Amino acid sequence: MAKRKSKRKPVTTRKAIQPLDTLFNCPFCNHEKSCEVKMDRTRNSGRISCRICLEDFQSTINYLSEPIDVYSEWIDACESANQ
Ligand SMILES: [Zn+2]
Repeated sequence: MAKRKSKRKPVTTRKAIQPLDTLFNCPFCNHEKSCEVKMDRTRNSGRISCRICLEDFQSTINYLSEPIDVYSEWIDACESANQ
């Protein structure tokens, strides 16, 4: 009996590359996905601001920085301010 070669199709329902998330939960008003990060690569600055409570934060970025980095820096700054 000849073996039938069956080509397995790769699973395509799973996306390997997802668009980077730029919306985060706000540590001040606790709204979900209310904080949007804007990356200004030409000025090396990232800015995150909440559209609900209008809290904002700016940090220096480099070419490797992602929106999540700006967000986590904001969280760190909030935590150290609370101490
Ligand atoms: Zn907020």
